Amino acid sequence: MSDPFLIRNARIVDVSNGAIEAGRSVLVRRDRIEAIGRFPGWSGASLDAAGSYLCPGLIDCHVHFFLDAGPDPRGSYISSDDSRRMATARKNARLAIQAGITTMRDCAAPGHLIVRFRRQGDAGDVPGPHIISCGYALMRPQGHCYFLGGEVATVRDLRKRIEWNLSHGAGFVKLMASGGGLTPGTIPHEADLPVKIMKAAVREAHANGVRITAHCHATDSIRRGIEVGLDMIEHASFVESPGRYRYDEELTRQIRDAGIIVSPTVYSALQTARRFRAAGAAHNPGDVAAVERLEGRLINTGHFRRLGMKIIGGTDCGATNTPFDSLVDELDSYTEAGLTRTEALRSVTDMGAYYLGLSQVGQVRPGHRADLTLLEGNPLEDLEVLRQPLKVYKSGRLVHERNGGDSA
Ligand SMILES: [Zn+2]
Repeated sequence: MSDPFLIRNARIVDVSNGAIEAGRSVLVRRDRIEAIGRFPGWSGASLDAAGSYLCPGLIDCHVHFFLDAGPDPRGSYISSDDSRRMATARKNARLAIQAGITTMRDCAAPGHLIVRFRRQGDAGDVPGPHIISCGYALMRPQGHCYFLGGEVATVRDLRKRIEWNLSHGAGFVKLMASGGGLTPGTIPHEADLPVKIMKAAVREAHANGVRITAHCHATDSIRRGIEVGLDMIEHASFVESPGRYRYDEELTRQIRDAGIIVSPTVYSALQTARRFRAAGAAHNPGDVAAVERLEGRLINTGHFRRLGMKIIGGTDCGATNTPFDSLVDELDSYTEAGLTRTEALRSVTDMGAYYLGLSQVGQVRPGHRADLTLLEGNPLEDLEVLRQPLKVYKSGRLVHERNGGDSA
């Protein structure tokens, strides 16, 4: 489509107000939405939306481009070379953009590969969403996801890693504050990153003007996260020693009162629990409460909603049996936990963007980046319509058409 162009006769999905504005036209110039209204004299390029729904592109706030979303993501990562790993990331990115996900936040990757991958995407060489990445996540030696790189033993190591990440375009800092289900040798109910390192990381991140988050399964790791002043917590699983899932209301209130944003990543947890039940064993022998811990994430999310927590929507895709088009499944789990459809959708559009510090993303509004999906039905009434968008625009460029294949 030439530039500028008009999308005529659309129903705009106003996620912020949970409302639909019918009979609107949207003028897109370069990568931006320039204006919304009626343009009776328009003679330039245009597309007749014929009353279909124009929705902001979605944001998946927790992904792993270099994991293959199969039954054993760690094993397949370790047995691959870099070119296979890049192919996995390309495949993941394509699946996401076809599902209308126009921004993704990568929460642990081999730093050197995601830098290359993001550059290819920015140059338009690889179809896929905008990427915000932490680069290498940072963990204790042999800590959770150490196979992706990012081990730090001292504050000095930590500073070096953060400096490398930020000088290579990282948008935030990610810590692994407890063990994880993917990594044998770690224990999910143990807070295994020292407070001293976490404190230094928070200082370093904030001194550089970026936010900091941490993977926290262990209740103790959540406690440490609040103490050191994290901006966000991923998973917030609440597992205690010696391996027991127990939701902690008092601690949850502390998270809320500290203004910490939570990314509950429910769908991948449920998928992994299903896998463990079927296989009769977890990936990690140290993960003694695996199924309860994973299924607890849905329960936690209900409590988060009840307490009015700040929630961002993310799938943890790339992890076990969680493909890159799973975001609607994640939203379904939020509605099951008690969020309204509009609240669920906002966690991956305007509110997700706001909490991630992304300006001019996540709404169909003048001045915003033209990351848009055209949908057959109203997502405020039925989230299912998000799964197969008619068209997907990234920065004003048509990158996917349901009936026409990929345009990128
Ligand atoms: Zn993750």
